[in-house]
Amino acid sequence: MSTVNCQLSIVVPLFNERESLPELLVQLSAAMGEKELHALFQEPFAYEIIMVDDGSTDDSCSLIGGMIPSRPDLRLISFQRNFGKTAALSAGFMAATGDYVCTIDADLQDDPFAIKEMIKKLQEGYDLVSGWKQQRKDPLSKTIPSKLFNGVTRLFSGIAIHDFNCGLKVYRQEVTRRLELHGDMHRYIPVLAHWMGFRIAELPVNHHARKFGSTKYGTSRFFSGLLDFLSVLFITRYLRRPMHFFGMAGLASFVFGFLISLYLTLDKILLQRPVSNRPILFLGILLLILGVQLFSTGLLGEMLSTSSSRGSTFTVRETLNLTPGQAKQFNTTDKF
Ligand code: UDP
Ligand code: MG
Repeated sequence: MSTVNCQLSIVVPLFNERESLPELLVQLSAAMGEKELHALFQEPFAYEIIMVDDGSTDDSCSLIGGMIPSRPDLRLISFQRNFGKTAALSAGFMAATGDYVCTIDADLQDDPFAIKEMIKKLQEGYDLVSGWKQQRKDPLSKTIPSKLFNGVTRLFSGIAIHDFNCGLKVYRQEVTRRLELHGDMHRYIPVLAHWMGFRIAELPVNHHARKFGSTKYGTSRFFSGLLDFLSVLFITRYLRRPMHFFGMAGLASFVFGFLISLYLTLDKILLQRPVSNRPILFLGILLLILGVQLFSTGLLGEMLSTSSSRGSTFTVRETLNLTPGQAKQFNTTDKF
């Protein structure tokens, strides 16, 4: 298998999904055997399934381990402990060798037979096709907050998709190679990819109720989700220019503080009115100090962003007529 070019890597993050795994593998194999899927590729179709065991405490890991000798298409990455879905996806992306990379949840809620349609869509000229759980089969306690999350993310990101956090997505490998995920940022992958200039599409997919086990995300996810949202907002807007954020706020604060102090000083000198017993004095001092602090934070941010920058401030789609040496500089499949 390793000598054949792998067209599709399927990354499956899993945490205590023992009951679902046998059926998932049957479904995936059936979906990978479909002629319509093979017809989308010029070369003979080859795929791999990368299971990322996110520190399961049931026997998910040994179950997969036991299947591997008879399944050359199966790979396993097993974490020391539970690091979260984002980390599991990152590990899968690092290992993926396919030209296309697909992610799917292990809990049988996503439909692997939709993968071929998503690849078809990708081949229309997109870099990332995200599933849309149009008829979501989850309890209201999940669907209502999720509508809110999607609405807010759509509003702030300007990306016109309905379902940012669908487990089923298909990417070109360039995208998965370049995504840098941390925290719980898998929910914002379309936002990060969009920011990097990748073209994103959405396709309605079937969704099923959870058959076995239980959801790994309780209500706490909405708080951590909010903080991650702020990080994503900051990263996509100000990562390369922190001064624009901190500098502006610092400048505004300093100017207000300065005006207040100036007013009080003139008041004291010209009208001989006492200053020390006036609350506005403290506001003035506070704003001045805050302004300087924000400004210095912006400067520090600039220094950090300059020194840690690896030059990857842009994403190249293609190059024409460059010498091989020149083209290597812009190889979109390489991180640079
Ligand atoms: N998952 C994981 N690590 C975690 C939590 C979840 O790998 O810490 C996997 C989980 O096994 C499943 C997928 O991520 O394959 C989606 O999780 P879940 O079904 O619990 O999320 P929901 O569908 O309820 O949003
Ligand atoms: Mg699920």
